[in-house]
Amino acid sequence: MKFLVSIIILIFLLGCKQKHQPIKITSMENKEAKNNPYYSRTDTAKLNISNEEWQKILAPDLYAISREAATERAFTGKYNEFDETGDYYCAVCGNHLFRSTSKFASSCGWPSFFEADKEGVYYKRDQTYGMERVEVLCKRCDSHLGHVFDDGPKPTGLRYCMNSISLEFVSDSQP
Ligand SMILES: [Zn+2]
Repeated sequence: MKFLVSIIILIFLLGCKQKHQPIKITSMENKEAKNNPYYSRTDTAKLNISNEEWQKILAPDLYAISREAATERAFTGKYNEFDETGDYYCAVCGNHLFRSTSKFASSCGWPSFFEADKEGVYYKRDQTYGMERVEVLCKRCDSHLGHVFDDGPKPTGLRYCMNSISLEFVSDSQP
């Protein structure tokens, strides 16, 4: 009888142990979109969300870049040296921004494109840090994405210098 009780206790303990095993997280999942009710790759309706609200939803690095116009460190972004075929969306709201065919190898340290989706972005004059630049923002959620310069390759001569953190890549081969 004592033996049986021991077995039952052992089974119970083992059962408890099982529950504490770590939950597997697949790296390809979009962690941002999960807790972000405004993220959509199909809904193009303009968003008008306060920074206070975005701060609750976005990861701190994405919030700093998209809502406070911070810049990720050069050569650190995941799309800097990346040339897969697919589309780039706004990491904040899911709006379509770039096609991979407009991406080019630039030595500046950030992912660079020579053409943006006209429906995806708009521009603002930026005179911060004593520089005269053109800021690129998402048309749907007004997030800061990066800057555009006129030293890019043909056919446009433009260089959209973007923060990887602001972008979400979806491969053509992804279902
Ligand atoms: Zn957006």
